[in-house]
Amino acid sequence: MALIVDHEHLGPSESEWDAAGHHKQLAPFGPIEARRLVVVSPHPDDEVLGAGGLIQVALSQHVLVEVVAVTDGEASHPNSTSATTLNLAHVRSAESRIALSRLGWREPLITRLHLPDGNVSAHRGQLDGALASILLPDDLCVAPWRHDGHPDHDVCGESVLTVSRAVGARMLEYLVWAWHWADPDGSDIPWQQCRRLDLTRRARAHKRWATSAFGSQTRALGPDFEDAAVLPAPLMRRFWRSYEVYVDDLASTR
Ligand SMILES: [Zn+2]
Repeated sequence: MALIVDHEHLGPSESEWDAAGHHKQLAPFGPIEARRLVVVSPHPDDEVLGAGGLIQVALSQHVLVEVVAVTDGEASHPNSTSATTLNLAHVRSAESRIALSRLGWREPLITRLHLPDGNVSAHRGQLDGALASILLPDDLCVAPWRHDGHPDHDVCGESVLTVSRAVGARMLEYLVWAWHWADPDGSDIPWQQCRRLDLTRRARAHKRWATSAFGSQTRALGPDFEDAAVLPAPLMRRFWRSYEVYVDDLASTR
């Protein structure tokens, strides 16, 4: 499945997701019972879009937090001539650091793996090895859902599932692109396995402020079609909700 994102392909609107109402039925997210929260992020922004609320909860509970940045996001505008004049890897890494600081994290701890954006699956062994050296038995690790719909996201989810099981860490999966392609009235998302993390008004406001740091993704890089925003404004509303959804793999076996 190829993800198509532009002003003619904006996916379901927030009112459609809201009307479907799945989130209202979900079990609430309990307290974080972990020594550390590890957020695995395929591209610099996923950690905030998918888990910016959870990061704030962890910080407020004095749980250690670490972000594993798998790629530097250098391939977000592959055919853009404007992008060639920018060092996108540098720009996006800096945006991520600013966004995390806006969540109240003064000195974000980010481990960068520098795997190639768009081609993480070819480096699965390296990814597994890196995660195996980072994850500990008492960690809660969140990563994109294995079926999120972007190849880098999917392989990150698969890798974290494998390694967290081997290590004895707990894993939950966040959603980024699934909100774009899934049918609000269908069963694409495994709602029975999902949990809802409610955000306070303050946490929601901080998350929204944080997402405004991703200017290289939310605004056009230049005048050409290839420079268009990867995350057009209507899509960003998904990440400004009063809740986050996490897939709990263990829920299916209970
Ligand atoms: Zn991503």
